[in-house]
Amino acid sequence: MKTVLPLPKANQAQNQAKISEIARLLKGCRNILFITGSGISAESGLPTYRGIGGLYDDKTTEEGIPIEMALAGEMLSTRPEITWKYLSQIEKNCRSATFNRAHEVIAQMERDFERVWVLTQNIDGFHRQAGSKNVIDIHGNLHNILCPACGWRKTIKDFTEIDIPPHCPKCNTIARPDVVFFGEMLPEDKLALLMRELDRGFDIYFSIGTTSVFPYIRHPMAVAEHLRRPTVEINPGETEISGWVEIKLPMGAAEALDGVWREYTSLRGGP
Ligand SMILES: [Zn+2]
Repeated sequence: MKTVLPLPKANQAQNQAKISEIARLLKGCRNILFITGSGISAESGLPTYRGIGGLYDDKTTEEGIPIEMALAGEMLSTRPEITWKYLSQIEKNCRSATFNRAHEVIAQMERDFERVWVLTQNIDGFHRQAGSKNVIDIHGNLHNILCPACGWRKTIKDFTEIDIPPHCPKCNTIARPDVVFFGEMLPEDKLALLMRELDRGFDIYFSIGTTSVFPYIRHPMAVAEHLRRPTVEINPGETEISGWVEIKLPMGAAEALDGVWREYTSLRGGP
């Protein structure tokens, strides 16, 4: 059992000093990359992506299969009704949630800086809802439905708009959400876009609320470290990259980014 203790005053002061340092760094930046994971959406009350299994405490579905298998490409192609059943349970649990202050600040920065990109693992679409335009949602978006046979596509607000499982209105094939399931390849167009933007480079790199277990999520931070560009991790927990990032801010995303934005705007003058 972990016990969560209130943050000692010394740590609060340390965090505040780091927030000021990040704001100072930002003042000299034109281009920013934000890499975000489930932690940023968890603050909106969403169950985390890896923790999709968290909805099923024993990690086994009613059908007696692990949730990762129910949400795998192979299951979708052989028994789509199983995949859709659990997708719709997950969607239902997330339906009332929306973006939070962290997503808002990132969208605000896109308007304020020359070039800002978001690379996200999340499939909730919160970054775009908050106003970000340059978003690489590498794992897709749960609200984009498509037909794997004829290419028909539709964006929906929530799953009440569709039958479960939904059929393509053009060719009657069972449709799928435009998300990357376990065991599936990443979309090539999004990878190419990511590579293009990484080649152009950024002045500062943020990793927020991700455990950085996926190589393509960790890679941009490693590149930044290699190029000796500033790297910032915002995450209350320890991750694979915590040991070597330039600034490790052990805070929740919304509180941390709100603090950074306040400091930054007071430094550059005006809101
Ligand atoms: Zn179709």
